[in-house]
Amino acid sequence: MAAPTAVSRPIGYSYGYSDDVDKIREQEYPHLDKTTYADHAGTTPYAKSTIEDFSKDMMSGLFGNPHSMSLSSQLSTTRTDDIRLRVLRFFNADPDEFDLVFVANATAAIKLVADSLRDADHRGFWYGYHIDAHTSLIGVRELAELNHQCFMGDADVDKWIPEIASNPTKAPRLFAFPGQSNLNGRRLPLRWCKEIRAASNGGNVFTLLDAASMVSTSPLDIGAVAPDFTALSFYKIFGFPDLGALIVKKSVSHLFDRRRYFGGGTVEMVLAHGSQWHAKKESSLHARLEDGTLPFHSIIALDAAINTHERLFGSMANISSHTAFLAKQLYDRLSTLKHWNKTKVCEIYHVNSVYGDEKSQGPILAFNLRNSQGEWVPKSEVEKLATVQNIQMRTGTVCNPGGAACSLGWTSAEMRHAYSNGVRCGDAHDVMGGRPTGVCRVSFGAMTNMRDINSIVDFVEEFYVENAPPIVALTPPMEEGDVFDRHWYIESLSVFPIKSCGAFKIPEGKRWEVKKEGLAWDREWCLIHQGTGAALSQKKYPRMALIRPSIDLDRGVLRLTCGESTDQMSLEISLGWEETSLISTSLCQNSGRKKATMVCGDQISLHAYASPVVSAFFSDFLGVPCTLARFPSQSATRFSRPPRLSGAWKSKFRKLLMPGSFPPDLPPPVVEQTRQQGKPLTLSNEMPILVVSRSSVNRLNETIKANSKQGSGAGRAVAADVFRGNIVVAERLTRIGDAEQPYAEDHWSGLRIGPDELRIDVLEGCQRCQMVCIDQFTGLRRSEPFSTLAKTRNIDGKIQFGRYAALSPAEVDRLEFEPLDCRTVMVGDVVTPSFM
Ligand SMILES: *Cc1c(COP(=O)(O)O)cnc(C)c1O
Repeated sequence: MAAPTAVSRPIGYSYGYSDDVDKIREQEYPHLDKTTYADHAGTTPYAKSTIEDFSKDMMSGLFGNPHSMSLSSQLSTTRTDDIRLRVLRFFNADPDEFDLVFVANATAAIKLVADSLRDADHRGFWYGYHIDAHTSLIGVRELAELNHQCFMGDADVDKWIPEIASNPTKAPRLFAFPGQSNLNGRRLPLRWCKEIRAASNGGNVFTLLDAASMVSTSPLDIGAVAPDFTALSFYKIFGFPDLGALIVKKSVSHLFDRRRYFGGGTVEMVLAHGSQWHAKKESSLHARLEDGTLPFHSIIALDAAINTHERLFGSMANISSHTAFLAKQLYDRLSTLKHWNKTKVCEIYHVNSVYGDEKSQGPILAFNLRNSQGEWVPKSEVEKLATVQNIQMRTGTVCNPGGAACSLGWTSAEMRHAYSNGVRCGDAHDVMGGRPTGVCRVSFGAMTNMRDINSIVDFVEEFYVENAPPIVALTPPMEEGDVFDRHWYIESLSVFPIKSCGAFKIPEGKRWEVKKEGLAWDREWCLIHQGTGAALSQKKYPRMALIRPSIDLDRGVLRLTCGESTDQMSLEISLGWEETSLISTSLCQNSGRKKATMVCGDQISLHAYASPVVSAFFSDFLGVPCTLARFPSQSATRFSRPPRLSGAWKSKFRKLLMPGSFPPDLPPPVVEQTRQQGKPLTLSNEMPILVVSRSSVNRLNETIKANSKQGSGAGRAVAADVFRGNIVVAERLTRIGDAEQPYAEDHWSGLRIGPDELRIDVLEGCQRCQMVCIDQFTGLRRSEPFSTLAKTRNIDGKIQFGRYAALSPAEVDRLEFEPLDCRTVMVGDVVTPSFM
């Protein structure tokens, strides 16, 4: 008997690895530093050695296009042949029995099978698929002319198999299922492949195993499982290269004989004219199916990827036990989390599987969170906060519509109904009729370590476990008498002439016009991507904060500066319209938050600056091909042309992204005419002015400081500027002992401002996203104030700070009769709130 040795690692953790997983992480995955990457089901990251070895490989030889006789071509061909064999062996597929076809990805492999079966028999084919299938498997049904069937669970499949023999068909039948659900990681019974083969008794029922999710953390013995077709993507196993494979049992290769299309490399001879004749390659199945030039560099990269993977982790079995251990840890810890009232925090979706049991469960968890009142936490809020905390996960139905619907209890009728109500894949409809529309998914891979698991549990504990009953009212309602003692005034005024760029602070002593659409010159311009036409946002391009505008009304210019003092650049643009040219785009609004007021495909027009100097200024600084565009004008000022569009359009454009493209030769848009003939569009969600309270910012900063872990640096105060308010109001405390009233604005219904008592209606709260974490002076991201806001300002599941406001309708009516300049505001103006 061997002497007992000290066990330093928990069973399964790093088991069989070349070193402790933390060491491997340090050396091979520096790109995972400082982040918790939990989306291995999307892709696993590649190791440093893979890229370095591949790069050495590339530089050590000359690789030509395969299929010819030159030395460089021969080198590519031999390497490809060797690697093909190596991959077959990786999956224990005997090269005498199986062939491997390189394809772009698992989806391409599935599609190749579907296309070939469609052509294989003039009657078409029958298709059956498991409810846990990935979207890419479900799509096959559109090609199955002989009907299709969705098996609602394992029992359905088990019931069907014995019936196969009793109702034989001439045309082929295909049954497809995932080896592992990409939604919740459940591993499905692989025995089906052999059982179906046996039941069909040499007949024509075939199996397609979608191994894409499974093989990333589990061994697959194709020799033993014997699927007719296996589809997979290599990037999910090794992180690199972006390549896939279809592994085909040679005994079913006749199914590809009638595949109609042929491409370069798959034929012996083709007549291009005269009779329609070609001779297919006879040599091997892959030679007949690999249309065009193989991605031979990517195939060569597989060598380095497999080498590194084997060296670091030893085997797929090691990875399976390592990740199973981690997933069980997370499962055990999340499922025991409770709120103060003993209600469960985390609903984890899985049936018929046991975490820790590698046969039935892979390292993926799908879940939703509830608050102590049992209400679901919107998944997109979880994702936003996770992003700020540097945790990378996925939310939604994660390309697994059947599995998601089953987990969440949605029927297909309900889903159709939701679709007609505007729900779309990836949107922000998180909860409908009291039920979540998607899940949060975390998934793990070979190099996931315990730290990753800890940070996910810490995240849920810190932000979602309520240790005490929620505080009902955020601030005590105001006493009427209180109001008169408080002197609110305007501390600062800002406009953001270019949407999502820096602020222009209106100088003290200068009165500034307020229009129906907001403060004058606020969000008059935006930056648009030259390829997609979408408006750029600071969320994606934080450096936009460093583009600082200033408006010089006397000279009639908008001056822009960016960069540090040493290499600062600047640009001046006329406030007039000379430099723009008209372009148009179509605007698609499925706004998640508000009921859509417009149909999809409305044409809008923007005036883009054609000058290459203008586009280069922004493109160079941001590193993205973009240019400046201006919203159509609607009120006459001395800088604008006569009004062209109704005012509602401008407000609409400001807030929305503009997908679609801008073909330069499009005729001018027709919106003007069609819209102006009909009723002007009225928008319920016009929220042109953002009001922020200094007292609330102060309170928030106190909370950030109080809660910060010592020395983490996260506790630094945030500037009011991160909230990008137009009007920052502050309190002048008149009596000793007076305290500020943070969040008093929650109770405001209106404001009167300045000597003329300009009336402003206070509208809804401003829902916040991670953009508040961008320091407006440095353009750098941090985790505050969003993290603290999430804990202290979560109102009905939405994180709110500041209030939207608009010129009151009474003022808008006054517009007709009084001179323009009576509707102005200025720093120092007295502000008198009225209350709800
Ligand atoms: C990822 C995945 C696919 C699709 O893979 P692609 O590389 O996007 O083609 C298909 N099925 C499952 C189960 C997956 O996890």
